[in-house]
Amino acid sequence: MNKKVPHDAILRLSFYLRALKNFEEENIKVVSSKQLADFLKINHHQLRKDLSYFGHFGKKGVGYPCSALIDKIKTILGLDKTWSAAVIGFGNLGRALSFYKGFREQGVYIKVAFDVDEKKINKEYNGIKVYSIEQLEKIIKKEDIQIAIITVPKYAAEEIANRLSKCKIKAILNFAPINLVTSSQILIQNVDFGCQLAYLTYHLKFLKP
Ligand code: ATP
Repeated sequence: MNKKVPHDAILRLSFYLRALKNFEEENIKVVSSKQLADFLKINHHQLRKDLSYFGHFGKKGVGYPCSALIDKIKTILGLDKTWSAAVIGFGNLGRALSFYKGFREQGVYIKVAFDVDEKKINKEYNGIKVYSIEQLEKIIKKEDIQIAIITVPKYAAEEIANRLSKCKIKAILNFAPINLVTSSQILIQNVDFGCQLAYLTYHLKFLKP
């Protein structure tokens, strides 16, 4: 990974990608950075700076060719490949994420799930088989899983992450409300819905009724 690229610039690439797809759907072949930035309600200097981390795109005064930039951003983000994922903790959130078609559209396929609940183990839901957590290492190897999505309760998340770091897992998307940190060999993105909600409730306090 290129260490010089800021974390937020990588996240913003996904927004640029969505915006470009919108333009493409409207049959617009070329967009200027200003058009793209206005569409996203961001600063066009920011957009140009973000893209400049990855090379030179578009022609000065002409703009960016939508289709070529879409392909380029997909390649940069690894979205031109397919990835195998597993959901760990097949509760309400785990189930919802397993069936979310947006992941498949990004090339991320949830192949299997794991749980401790005997009522869920060995059952298949929309083609996703739930295995016992005891089989974690074996199935991850067998199915060649690269991404783990953790949706177990907080008390179970750390142990799961430690076990995953000993498998060949490359990345973890963690939804358990705990900041997981493991070895440098494994990438972790912690997603905390509670924090995002608190951001909204903080601002809501200042809104006039
Ligand atoms: P449900 O009511 O269907 O269990 P839930 O979303 O309320 O769903 P949670 O308590 O949030 O359940 O737990 C999420 C899921 O994680 C559950 O399916 C639970 O059985 C599972 N789980 C809990 N501990 C572990 C563990 N150590 N390993 C794997 N899965 C676990």
